[in-house]
Amino acid sequence: MRDVLVVGGGVAGLAASIFSARADMDTLVIDGGERSSSEGRTGSGDSGGSILERNASLENYPGFPHGVDARLYLRMAREQAKTAGAEFEHGRVTGVGRIDPDDLEAGFRVETERGEPFGTRRLIAASWPDSEYITPLDVGREQRGSKYVIHVDRVGRTAVDGVYAAGRVAGEPHQAIVAAGHGAKVALAAIQDSGVPFYHDWVAPEGYFTGRDRQIPPACEEIDDEERRKRDERARETVLERFADPLEDEPTMHPSVEEG
Ligand SMILES: Cc1cc2nc3c(=O)[nH]c(=O)nc-3n(C[C@H](O)[C@H](O)[C@H](O)COP(=O)(O)OP(=O)(O)OC[C@H]3O[C@@H](n4cnc5c(N)ncnc54)[C@H](O)[C@@H]3O)c2cc1C
Repeated sequence: MRDVLVVGGGVAGLAASIFSARADMDTLVIDGGERSSSEGRTGSGDSGGSILERNASLENYPGFPHGVDARLYLRMAREQAKTAGAEFEHGRVTGVGRIDPDDLEAGFRVETERGEPFGTRRLIAASWPDSEYITPLDVGREQRGSKYVIHVDRVGRTAVDGVYAAGRVAGEPHQAIVAAGHGAKVALAAIQDSGVPFYHDWVAPEGYFTGRDRQIPPACEEIDDEERRKRDERARETVLERFADPLEDEPTMHPSVEEG
């Protein structure tokens, strides 16, 4: 039984899984996208099946002054989720139901097109554009054009306790940074609902709290200068390595555009 199961390893789902895994919640991401498997379309893909795979140059995501290769961004976000402890399964989720209809605390059973179902206490739907699998739970959806969005509150909770939605499938605007921010916010709601009332996930310099005779708040960390330099070096090495060579992956074209 997982603490959190995220359906969709795109922008919102990856951000949500980074947050829930860093909160020590046992987190599984199931993604049905073509590039989620090691046998991805280009053979090199480990970046998921996000619609952002179609982007030609991601230029409005804060932190990259001249933009970034969207597929590299996805790949690194996925790596970050794995580093945080999230696990990944490739497969399309086809159905969700209660494990025990008479016990609302028993959690949810998540079916995929292959293999045994998965059990989870909380479910975050981040599966743009698909939410058909969630209809048995009666969370409430609304048709927008040819697609459906799931009804959620301010922090991504649906009408069903323990079920959340994040990103585009929750009706958020269609930009990567918005989807990432929403995924993080929804995971924070799931963390809070699991009984952790005060959760920041901050790393502060040594003395920031203790230098004022304050206790280090839960889910905060103080690190000394040596540790800060160590982490900084590791971060720079990783980024330099990942950006050293251009990715060969091409953008995914819209399915209705004929190949020339
Ligand atoms: C051509 C193009 C260019 C774009 N360029 C930009 C840009 O420059 N800047 C910008 O900010 N935004 C851009 N976007 C928009 C951006 O890609 C989206 O806003 C963002 O990806 C939405 O994030 P999401 O997590 O909601 O959905 P996605 O990132 O699409 O993630 C959804 C994930 O759910 C998975 N999934 C779906 N159904 C299931 C299921 N049943 N079971 C398991 N997994 C499932 C999919 O495989 C996918 O990985 C662009 C989009 C397109 C199409």
